[in-house]
Amino acid sequence: MRTSLRTSTISRDYLDRLLSSMGEALLITDMNGRIERANAAAGELFGHTEGELVGKLADELILSNDRRRAEGVASRPREGAVLRADGSTISVSYTVANVHNDRNDVVSKVYAAHNIDERKRVEQRIRYLARTDSLTKIANRMQFQHMLQQAIARARRSQQYVAILYLDVDRFKDINDTFGHSAGDTSLEIFARRTLAELGENAHAGRLAGDEFAVLITGFERLDAMQTHLGELAPRLLQAAGKPFQVHGEEIFLTASMGIAIYPRDGDNVIDLIRNADAALYQAKKAGGNCFEWYSADMNTAAVERLMLKSKLRRALERDELRLHYQPKYRLTTGRLEGAEALLRWDLPERGVVLPSDFVPLAEETNLILQLGDWVLNRVCADYRAWQRTVPSPCRVSLNLSLRQLQQRRFLDQVRDTFRAHGVSPTSLELEITESTLMEDPERTVRILDALYGMGLHLAIDDFGTGYSSLSALQQFPINTLKIDQSFVRNVATDRDDAAIVDAIIQMAHSLQLEVVAEGVESEAQLDFLRKHGCDYAQGHLFGETMNADQFCELLISEAEGSGKYRALFA
Ligand code: C2E
Ligand code: MG
Ligand code: MG
Repeated sequence: MRTSLRTSTISRDYLDRLLSSMGEALLITDMNGRIERANAAAGELFGHTEGELVGKLADELILSNDRRRAEGVASRPREGAVLRADGSTISVSYTVANVHNDRNDVVSKVYAAHNIDERKRVEQRIRYLARTDSLTKIANRMQFQHMLQQAIARARRSQQYVAILYLDVDRFKDINDTFGHSAGDTSLEIFARRTLAELGENAHAGRLAGDEFAVLITGFERLDAMQTHLGELAPRLLQAAGKPFQVHGEEIFLTASMGIAIYPRDGDNVIDLIRNADAALYQAKKAGGNCFEWYSADMNTAAVERLMLKSKLRRALERDELRLHYQPKYRLTTGRLEGAEALLRWDLPERGVVLPSDFVPLAEETNLILQLGDWVLNRVCADYRAWQRTVPSPCRVSLNLSLRQLQQRRFLDQVRDTFRAHGVSPTSLELEITESTLMEDPERTVRILDALYGMGLHLAIDDFGTGYSSLSALQQFPINTLKIDQSFVRNVATDRDDAAIVDAIIQMAHSLQLEVVAEGVESEAQLDFLRKHGCDYAQGHLFGETMNADQFCELLISEAEGSGKYRALFA
C-alpha cells in the first residue's frame, strides 16, 4: 500500500513537471470535457491561473471554427479561437485526444493548443499580396478572373447578366518612352483611380496586365437595361480617362479603348468572356482608339479555333501526339538531383509544341482530362521502369493531378492497378495538387489522399500562394511537400514584400514538417535567397530546359557518377 502510494506520488510529481515543461497549452478534462488539470502554458494562453481553469468546460474556452469538423478524426489538428479572461481572443491550432479505460470507454480528454495568431496574420498578408496589383492596389488578373467566375456562377443561378469591359490605354508605350517608366507607372495609377471613381456598387475593376484593365458589372436581370447602362457608362469611363493630368511637371493626355462582352450572350465562361471582350477591344483599337466596341460573333476566330483544338485534342491520344517532359529538382543544401516533375506537352504536327496552359483547361472542361491523366501516369511509370534498368534508384518523380481525376470514383483502384502493371513502387512517385483542388470537397479529398498516402505515394501542394493560402486548412491533408508558386519566387531577390512572404511560407511550412520546393527559379540571386532562407528544393530554368525521358536518364547517370552539371551553382 505504502509502495503503491509512493509510486503514484512520484508519478504525479513527474507528470506535473512534465506538463509544466511543455510549451504547448494542455488541458486535461473528465469525460464530459470539464477541466481537471492545466499546465502553465495553458494558464498563459487563456489568461487565467491554472487553478481558475479547473472546473470550466474546455469547449467553452476553445471555440472551434468548424463545428462539423469537430466530430472528425480526433488526432487531426483543428482550428479555433481561445476566449481569454480579459475578453480578447487568440487563434489557436489544437488537437483533442480521448483517453480510454480498459473497457474502451472515454474517461478523459486531453486538449493541446498553441497560438497561431502570427501565422494567421502572415496568411492574410500572403492572400492580400497574391490578389492585389502592387502598383494600383486593385485586383490583379488572378483575382479578377476569380471574381468574374463567381459573378458568372451567381448570374447563372439567378438568371442575370454580367458584363466585362476590357480597357487598354492607347499608345501607352509612347508615354513610357517619352516621359519615362516612373511617369508611366503614375499614369496607370491615375487611370485606375479615375476608372474606380466612375463605378457604382455593382462594379469591380482589375488590372489584367501592363496597361490592360477590366471592369466587371453585375446585377441586371434584363439585357436591354444592361445595354442602356453600359451605353452610358462606357463613354463616361473613356472621358474620365481622357482628362489631362500632371506628372513631374509634364502635362500628360491619355486615351483608352474598350471592348465589351456580356454573359451569357457572348460567352458562358471566364475564358471565353475575356477573350471576346478582348476581340471587341481589338476592333476599337483598329477603329483608331479612344472608343468602345460591343463584341459580336463575327469578330471571333478564337472561339472557332478553340472548338477545332478540342476535337484535335480528342484525337491526340490515338495519334500518339502527347509527350512528357521532365524538370529536375535539386536539393539546396547539397546541389544533388533529388526529384523531377513530369510536365505534359502536346506535339501538334501543324502547330508545333502546345503548352499545357493552352489545352489542359480545354481537356478539363470534358472528361478528356481523365484519359490524359491516365496516359501521364502510365507514361511516368513506364519511363521510371526504363530508368531503373540503368540507374538502380532513380529519384522521385512528381506529376500534376486535376480536380476531375480526384473526383473519379475508381481513381484509387486505377492508380493501384497502374503501379502493379508497371511494377513500380508508389513510393517512387509524388502527386501535385493545387490548393483550390484540395479545398473543393475537403472531406472526400481527405479520405482519398489518406488512401493514396497509405499506398506510399508522396503528396505535394502545388502553386501555394495562388489559392486560399491557408496552411492551417491544409493541415488536415497528409501532405509532405509544399511548392511555392513561381509568382512569388520571381521577385524574391528584388521585392521586399515577396521576400518576406517567401521567408514566412518556408518557416510556416517547416513548423508543420513540410518540405518546401521553390518553383520557377531562374537566377542565381533567387537561388542564393532560397538557400539562405532554408528552402529545401528548387526547380526552374536556372538548371536548363525541361527534357525528355532519355535526356533525363542521362542526367541521372551523370549524377550517379558524381559529375552533376549544376554542382558549381551550389558551391
Ligand atoms: P505547374 O505544375 O506549376 O508547373 C510549373 C510550370 O512552370 C511548368 O509550365 C514549367 O515549365 C514552368 N516553369 C518551370 N520552371 C520555370 C522557370 O524557371 N521560369 C518560368 N517562367 N517557368 C518555369 P508548363 O509545363 O507550361 O505547365 C503549366 C501547368 O500545367 C503546370 O503548372 C500544371 O498545373 C499543368 N500541367 C502540366 N502537366 C500536367 C499534367 O500532366 N496534368 C495536369 N493535370 N496538369 C498539368
Ligand atoms: Mg506542378
Ligand atoms: Mg506550380
